[in-house]
Amino acid sequence: MLLENKVVLITGASRGIGRATAIEAARQGANVAINTFRDDAVAAEVVAEIEALGRKAVVFDADVAQPDSATGFVQAAVDALGRVDVFVSNAGICPFHAFLDMPVETLRRTMEVNLHGAYFMVQAAANQMVKQGDGGSIVAISSISALVGGEMQTHYTPTKAGVHSLMQSCAVALGRHGIRCNSVLPGTIATDINKDDLADPAKREYMEGRIPLGRLGRPEDIASVVAFLASDMASYMSGSALLVDGGAFANFQ
Ligand code: NAD
Repeated sequence: MLLENKVVLITGASRGIGRATAIEAARQGANVAINTFRDDAVAAEVVAEIEALGRKAVVFDADVAQPDSATGFVQAAVDALGRVDVFVSNAGICPFHAFLDMPVETLRRTMEVNLHGAYFMVQAAANQMVKQGDGGSIVAISSISALVGGEMQTHYTPTKAGVHSLMQSCAVALGRHGIRCNSVLPGTIATDINKDDLADPAKREYMEGRIPLGRLGRPEDIASVVAFLASDMASYMSGSALLVDGGAFANFQ
């Protein structure tokens, strides 16, 4: 097991990639604190799955965009599980919209959840790890969108480039404390975030056709890579980005 007796915290863990990561962390032997936001029934399912694997779970309901949520989540995890070994910043939104008439509120909210939320959360987790004094691992879920543009994602792609940049700067700021910081860049993973966009069969077929491995990603495809980065198997990795996209980015010509 990669994460035996570690304490792993994950934001936005009620659905999709965050949920799969929480379950994978438990499968790898960790006790898990999950942050969710107004998703109590689903959060209870995730807790039940983690407990069925023989691990402890704690839920903290909060909007990552609020600075106080970060200190609250980390404190709740420490109170319930004793410490923080791994922090996964995953919560994110992508309300697809055209550029020329982007509503200010949509831009602002996307920035606040995806980038400011990641910043506050990572900062709170890092402070706890520094206090503990024996290192840690931070993984942020960025995106292939950090590398490529998207017509309906002009508000989203800068947040994902920002999240990777945050991990690079944190790798520099926190290396002396033995804290590793890396990002994962998923390609197209079938989750609620793109359910409407991919509901059009022609769009889905086009996307699948561009992926050399011939299928969209599953949340579990990302969860296993996060578990690797979180673990001692990646003990000399920091400031790195792992693209997990079925080969899509390489398929340009
Ligand atoms: P999802 O919609 O299935 O899950 C998002 C999770 O974040 C949910 O649990 C939701 O409740 C939570 N969340 C949303 N706003 C929140 C807030 N303000 N505070 C706390 N939690 C909040 O989507 P997903 O695809 O699993 O996305 C997870 C991460 O992966 C996001 O950061 C997203 O940008 C990134 N990502 C997804 C894809 C993809 O194709 N699905 C590709 C690249 C990157």
